[in-house]
Amino acid sequence: MKDIAIIGSGFSSLAAACYLAQAGHSATIYEKNNTIGGRARQLKKDGFTFDMGPTWYWMPDVFERFFNDFGKKPSDFYTLEKLNPAYQVYFGKNDSITIEDTLDKICVAFENEEPGSSVKLRKFMDQALDNYNIAIKDLVYRPGVSPLELVTVETMKKIGQFFSTISKDVRKEFTNPKLISILEFPVLFLGAKPSKTPAFYSFMNYADFGLGTFHPKSGMYSVISGISKLATNLGVTIKTNQNVEKINVKDGAANSINVNGEEIKADVVLSGADYHHTENLLEQPFRQYSEKYWSEKTFAPSALLFYVAFNKQLENVNHHTLFFDVDFEKHSKEIYDEPQWPEEPLFYASFPSKTDKSVAPKEKEAGIFLIPLAPGIDDIPEIRDEYFDIIMSRFEKITNQEAKKYVIFKESFCINDFTADYNSYKGNAYGLANTLLQTAFLRPKLKSGKVKNLFFTGQLTVPGPGVPPALISGKLVAGLIDKEINL
Ligand SMILES: Cc1cc2nc3c(=O)[nH]c(=O)nc-3n(C[C@H](O)[C@H](O)[C@H](O)COP(=O)(O)OP(=O)(O)OC[C@H]3O[C@@H](n4cnc5c(N)ncnc54)[C@H](O)[C@@H]3O)c2cc1C
Repeated sequence: MKDIAIIGSGFSSLAAACYLAQAGHSATIYEKNNTIGGRARQLKKDGFTFDMGPTWYWMPDVFERFFNDFGKKPSDFYTLEKLNPAYQVYFGKNDSITIEDTLDKICVAFENEEPGSSVKLRKFMDQALDNYNIAIKDLVYRPGVSPLELVTVETMKKIGQFFSTISKDVRKEFTNPKLISILEFPVLFLGAKPSKTPAFYSFMNYADFGLGTFHPKSGMYSVISGISKLATNLGVTIKTNQNVEKINVKDGAANSINVNGEEIKADVVLSGADYHHTENLLEQPFRQYSEKYWSEKTFAPSALLFYVAFNKQLENVNHHTLFFDVDFEKHSKEIYDEPQWPEEPLFYASFPSKTDKSVAPKEKEAGIFLIPLAPGIDDIPEIRDEYFDIIMSRFEKITNQEAKKYVIFKESFCINDFTADYNSYKGNAYGLANTLLQTAFLRPKLKSGKVKNLFFTGQLTVPGPGVPPALISGKLVAGLIDKEINL
C-alpha cells in the first residue's frame, strides 16, 4: 500500500482516487477551494442552484462504465433523465430548430429545413456511430504513451478522417447553414474550431443525436457528490481548503508536497490541477514543458458566465438553448486567431429549472449564460456588465419577452476567476483543445518524464476536455501508477 497525495478534486482526481483506493492504496485529495468538484462546482443562493461549469451530460455509457468498475450504477448515486427536447438552437427572432430525443425525430426537423437532408444525416450518423465505437469504446482508454496506440485495423481504414476536418465533411453533404451549425456544434466541446477538428471526431455527433442529452436531478454537481461518496466509501480522504504550494523532489522522485505551509510526505504525487500550474509547483529543472511550449498550444476557450435568478418563468426557451443568430466564423476568429472581446457574441443559455423544479423556487427561473472567449484577454467588471446587457437585449428580442427587469440577482464568472479559483493557464475554461496535433500521445503526458512518482491527470492530458474524458483520464493515470508501483 502506497500513500498517494492527489492535488485537486475535479472529476479526474476523484475518479483516479477511486481506482487507486480500490487497488489498495491510501489516497488523499488536497483541494485548494472550500468545496470539491473543480470546474464542476455548484453555486447555491436564495433557493437557486446553478452548475458553475458543465451542464451537458453526454455519453452516459462512459459514466456507466466508470461506476461499473466499482460494481455500481449511476442510479446508485443520482437520478438521470433523458431530456426531450435535448436542446433548441435560435438563428434569429422566431427562427429556431428544436433537437428532440431520437434520430427519427431529428430527421424530421432536418427534412423541414432541407428536403433530402435526412437521408444524408442517417449516412453521416452511421459513420459517427462507427467512430464512436472505435474511439470511445477503445482508443480513448489508451494512455497516450505511444503513437502505436492509434494504429489499429479500424483506425487505418479511417486514416483519411484524421486529415480531413469536421467542417469539410459536414459541408460535403449539407448546404443549409443552420444544419451545418448544428452539426458543427458538438465538436465545440473539444475546444477547437470545427475547421481544425479532425473529421474522425464526428463521434461527438453520435453522442449528440445518437445517445442524447441527459440531466442528473439537481444538476451535474450530483455526479460530483456521487463520485465523492463512492470515493469516501472506498477509503479516500478528501480535504478542502488545502492549497498545495510545492511538490518536493528528492533523488529524482516526488516525495512530498507543501500544503498550507506544512510538508506532507507521499510515495506518489498525482495532480489533477491544471498542468502548467502543477509544473510551476516544481523547481525549474524538474519541469518538462517550457513557457514557449504552453504559449504555442491551442487552448480551449475561456468563458464569461452569468448565473442569473429570474423572478418569473421564462418563455420560448428550453433547458438547453443556443443562440447562433450571429456570425459563427467571426466570433471564432475572435477566440482563436485574433484574441479579443467578440463584437457580436454567440452564446449559450441553460434553464435547468425548465425540467428540474429543485433548482429554483416556485414560479421562478434559474438561468446560466455562457459566452465563449479567448483565454488571456482583459477581464474587468465593466466589460462583464456591458456583455450582460448585450446578451440580455438579444435574448429579449429573440425570445420575445422581457427578462432583464425580472433579474433578482446575477453572479458572474470569467477569466480572472478561472485563474484565481483553479490556477488555470490564461483563465482557460476547459483545458487543451483536441486538434490533430494535440491528440493522444501528442498531449501532455500522464507520467512525468523528469520526476519519478509524479503523475498528471485531467482535461489537459489524455483524452481531453469534458467530463467523460476526465473520468477516463482518472482511470488511465491510476492504471499507470499501479503499474509503476508494482514494477
Ligand atoms: C464553463 C464550463 C462549461 C463546461 N461544460 C461542459 C459540459 O457541459 N459537459 C462536459 O462534459 N464538460 C464541460 N466542461 C468541461 C468539464 O467541466 C471539465 O473538462 C472537467 O470538469 C475538468 O475536470 P478536471 O478534473 O480535469 O479539472 P478541474 O475540474 O479543473 O479540477 C482541478 C482541481 O484542482 C484544484 N487545484 C488547482 N490548483 C491547486 C492547488 N495548488 N492546490 C490544491 N488544489 C488545486 C482546483 O481548484 C480544481 O478543483 C465545462 C467546463 C467549463 C469550465
